Amino acid sequence: AAKVKNKLEGVWRLSKLGVPVGDDPGKDSLGISQALLQAIAKVIEFPVASMLPEEAFSVVRKSFDARKILKEAKFVYTVDLDVKTLLELEPRAHDFIFRLEPKLGLVEHLPPEKTVSGDLISVVNECRRINGDAAAGEHEPKVINGNGGGGGGGGGGRSKPRIAVVGGGPSGLFAALVLAEFGADVTLIERGQAVEERGRDIGALVVRKILDMESNFCFGEGGAGTWSDGKLVTRIGKNSATVLAVLKTLVRFGAPDNILVNGKPHLGTDKLVPLLRNFRHYLQSAGVNIKFRTRVDDLLVEDSRVVGVRVSDSADHLQSSTSKDLKFDAVVLAVGHSARDTYEMLLSRNVELTPKDFAVGLRVEHPQELINSIQYSDLASEVRKGRGKVPVADYKVVQYVNDKDEELSQSSSKRSCYSFCMCPGGQVVLTSTNPNELCINGMSFSRRSSKWANAALVVTVSAKDFDLLNLTGPLAGIEFQREFERRAAIMGGGNFTVPVQRVTDFLESKLSETPLPSSSYRLGVKSANLHELFPAHITDSLRQSLSMFEKELPGFISEEALLHGVETRTSSPVRIPRSNETYESTSLEGLYPVGEGAGYAGGIVSAAVDGMFSGFAVAKSFDLFDGTV
Ligand code: FAD
Repeated sequence: AAKVKNKLEGVWRLSKLGVPVGDDPGKDSLGISQALLQAIAKVIEFPVASMLPEEAFSVVRKSFDARKILKEAKFVYTVDLDVKTLLELEPRAHDFIFRLEPKLGLVEHLPPEKTVSGDLISVVNECRRINGDAAAGEHEPKVINGNGGGGGGGGGGRSKPRIAVVGGGPSGLFAALVLAEFGADVTLIERGQAVEERGRDIGALVVRKILDMESNFCFGEGGAGTWSDGKLVTRIGKNSATVLAVLKTLVRFGAPDNILVNGKPHLGTDKLVPLLRNFRHYLQSAGVNIKFRTRVDDLLVEDSRVVGVRVSDSADHLQSSTSKDLKFDAVVLAVGHSARDTYEMLLSRNVELTPKDFAVGLRVEHPQELINSIQYSDLASEVRKGRGKVPVADYKVVQYVNDKDEELSQSSSKRSCYSFCMCPGGQVVLTSTNPNELCINGMSFSRRSSKWANAALVVTVSAKDFDLLNLTGPLAGIEFQREFERRAAIMGGGNFTVPVQRVTDFLESKLSETPLPSSSYRLGVKSANLHELFPAHITDSLRQSLSMFEKELPGFISEEALLHGVETRTSSPVRIPRSNETYESTSLEGLYPVGEGAGYAGGIVSAAVDGMFSGFAVAKSFDLFDGTV
């Protein structure tokens, strides 16, 4: 009886509901259309779709599926059916709900308690309430080393733990948010500038070729993902409570709420910049002390425990006059994977670092119209530079190739080659943090309306590849990256000019003749022998995979496709080992390595999730809550 009663409570989640493009209002509509009601009615076997009340349904996810194996392209929905509302508005649906049975991947019953989740601020406050903290949800004036005044969830009368969060990328921001909400005394230290000034520094780079080594596409408020495509896809379950908490937090700070529903959510730089400003204002209102243009140069260690950090004004490259020591009870290290000086400092402090596999390669750029027509055929005309009914086309390809180099292939399994960080309607940007090194990535604006499509084409590399260049030790991967970034800078001839080659010429090992296909990269491109950039086995893997990608995406190998060198910073080449439970470094007490730079995340959302969990772990270790979430 309980089982039967259950069916008439909570929510039924209906997945894989297909609506043909012609019947759907289009990618920007997240409402319940008549065509969608028909798809729903079919699943619950309700005879008259138009009698189903729209109010009883909400779209959980909407994706576009234009795979060639389908008879026609369609939008694919996941929809929640709220039983209570449905039965109130259409009591005749009772028997149909009663007969509904769960079907793997298609129909799922969610009891009431499984359906609620809020943004991170409400989650933390709920934890504090459970923990008996009457002041949960209030931001009180900070009291340092005095009466906690309800700020610290652990109770009044105790001083607040002083926590430094180093790095203002997604992982650092989310760690700072959680810790501030739990009532810790948080200082966020960021070597780069706030987004407003950072925007000006990036403008100077793109227009006048002036690189500020501390405020650029990698460093500054929001971290590496700010001037980016802002893709919010992650391999952590899309509908998982943690990912939803992060996405809802972004919505709270100004992201459009379609990111909660879109199958491939993305923001674009124009949406990220105001969002980060709101995030900052919220943190400041919660008492977080934010120090921009402040670089952590060293850790203060006493009795094998971190007790603070040495910082300097990041505009002062000699650290001569501005260096000062700041005391903290714990340091959350969220520095990303471009902070090469910070890794060196950690090594000098004997913090355990281990090399990690990552991937290197080139960035390929096609005209977006070509990718639209490869992916959509006749439907390509519906894209209309991001304003049409269907999304600007993207792609994702992965292949495994054998190493031709005997020394490597004997022991190794196949090497994977894949597209990475694809930016539809975007542009290629410079992500160097040093003028002698050249590396690139991609970004876009929310409309994705540029005439180009770019993506990294990369192959995995590991210690065996570093060995071939006689690179050993924990930072071998970083030296490996540097080697090819320097070679690319030389091939480009300096001044951040990027070496390029047509895909067709790369396959035939010949220099591309001018005129070259147009490139979105604004600092200039120069024809070069990119087939000589990497060791032969890497070039060969890239060539093999290009030929395989052509089978999947006919037209991908094109005279109009231009390869740009070099893509090296795909994920961290180093891991900073930490405890799975406490998030504390295995080699230095009081140090909490998090996010992409620590080797525990890759991408905006996973870095944010890692920062969030580290915030909970640090809060727990300082007794700010008891661990009940
Ligand atoms: P980061 O974002 O790298 O942040 C680290 C911060 O620490 C930086 O702001 C840095 O200035 C600061 N810092 C470093 N050292 C110090 C120090 N010693 N003292 C003080 N501060 C320091 N991911 C996606 O999921 N989707 C995308 O579309 C996407 N596009 C991208 C486009 C570009 C151009 C780039 C470069 C990256 C892109 N990524 C994307 C990757 C994504 O940005 C990262 O995975 C993510 O930002 C990692 O977050 P993080 O907080 O771990 O580190």
